[in-house]
Order: sequence, then structure tokens, then C-alpha cells
Amino acid sequence: MKLLKLGGSVVTRKAERFTINIEQIRRLIQEIKKTLPQKLVIIHGGGSFGHPVAKEYNINEGYNSPHQLIGFSKTHQAMVSLNSKIINESIDAGIPAIGVSPSSFLITENRRIKKLDVIILEKLLNFGLMPVLYGDAVIDEKQGFAILSGDQLAVEIAKKLKVKRLIFGSDVDGVYTADPKLDSEAKLMGKISIREITEKSKIRGSLNTDVTGGMLGKIQEAGEAARAGIEVLIVNALEPDIIRNALLSEKVKGTYIIP
Ligand code: ADP
Repeated sequence: MKLLKLGGSVVTRKAERFTINIEQIRRLIQEIKKTLPQKLVIIHGGGSFGHPVAKEYNINEGYNSPHQLIGFSKTHQAMVSLNSKIINESIDAGIPAIGVSPSSFLITENRRIKKLDVIILEKLLNFGLMPVLYGDAVIDEKQGFAILSGDQLAVEIAKKLKVKRLIFGSDVDGVYTADPKLDSEAKLMGKISIREITEKSKIRGSLNTDVTGGMLGKIQEAGEAARAGIEVLIVNALEPDIIRNALLSEKVKGTYIIP
């Protein structure tokens, strides 16, 4: 079983509000299709759908004003609409994909997943269906509500389902010694250990309007999965065939997170 997390930087155009990256989505769906049948869960990020709305209403800070409620609805709905576009494209390609809404089956506490039952996901996978989840606005036991990142969700589900390989597809080749978009001297790290992640000296957050952590957040989450014995890699999903090969358990260019 494998889990593929597709970044908001891949499925949307991060700089343009509510804009999907349709060419990339279609190509990735074809790549995924070539690796089926296999048990596969897809999780996508929010990009220019969820994040700007969540930020506008401070959803990740938790409930402090009734004015935020409409923002909670709008954030979730933005993600439903992005998810629904991805599901429609998958169905058109003949993949039995099914959208599963995180806010309706999990709860966080201080922004960390507290309750999550994977029984429905297991049953869907046993049938040969492909569940497609996403980062979402969720109920939080301490702060009322919160934003759950697709990255945190991916790691938690990967651990619970005991997946073999967890692949993070982003818009860069992996983890660099510095943000490659800001520093032309930045070097790609072929692997990174959990200890290096804890020291987190050189890795900075993302440039864009991401309320849930950027690359630093991603590798911190990824480290948790590696600690649980899962093979974890961060690759460039915008480069043709990398996702296909990663899903076929081949060795690909990227950063491997090692225990
Ligand atoms: P995604 O939307 O793909 O889940 P993010 O946009 O949250 O990912 O994080 C990826 C971004 O993090 C990259 O586009 C890159 O600009 C930025 N970044 C910052 N520091 C680094 C680094 N050390 N290595 C790689 N990317 C980094």
C-alpha cells in the first residue's frame, strides 16, 4: 500500500486564487493510472484554494468570533471544490476515485490529530477504490477549530494504514540546503536523517501563503513517518514520470527521509 501527497503547489497555481493546475492534474492522473491496480491513498494540499480563505478568517488561530464561522464554511468548501475537480478528472480517466472529507471523520487538539479512525479507508481500499483526501478546516478540541495540513494528515494515515511508501510530491526536487527559489547556491540533499530534521538549521518555510508550514513543516511531519518505519521521500511532482516511478517503488530523484 502507498500514499501519495500532492502539494498545493502542484495541484493549484499558488499565486492565482482559486486556480487549479489542470495540465499537471491530468498528467498526474495518467501517471497514477499506469501504476494501478494497487492500494493507493491520495491526499492533496490547499494551495490557492484553502489557504487564502483560511488566512483571511484566521481559522488556524481557532474560534474567537462568530464572524469566523462563515470563513470556516468557505475554507472547507474551497477544498471540497478543489477535491471535486480532481475526483472528476480521475473518474473521466476511469479511476474509481472517491473524495473523503477529513473534517467529517477526525478531530484535532491544539492542531494535532487526536481522533482518526481509518476503517472506512480500509474498506474502500479493499474494494479497489482510491480515496482522495485533503488538508481541511477541522474541529479542534482545544481551540474550537483549526487547519489540518495535508502533510500532517498524510503521515497520520500512512502510520495507521501501515503503508510501505509515503511520497510527498512538491514543486521542487526535494529538500535543499536553502530555499532553491531564493538561493541559487542551494544544493539538493539526497537524503536527510531524523536527527538533521530535529536540528532544522538550514531549512526554512515556504514563500507562499501557506498557513501550515512549508518545507520545514513538511519534513518535520515526514520525520514522524520515517520513525514509524515507513519509506518516505520528497520528490518533484511537476517533473514527468517521477510520480509514476515512485509509485512503482523505483528509485527516483528526490530526498529520502531516513531514520
Ligand atoms: P507543497 O505545496 O508542495 O506541499 P510548500 O509550498 O508548502 O509545498 O513547500 C514547498 C516549498 O518550500 C518549495 O516550493 C520551496 O520554495 C520552499 N522551501 C523553503 N525552504 C526549502 C528548502 N530548504 N528546500 C526545498 N524547498 C524549500
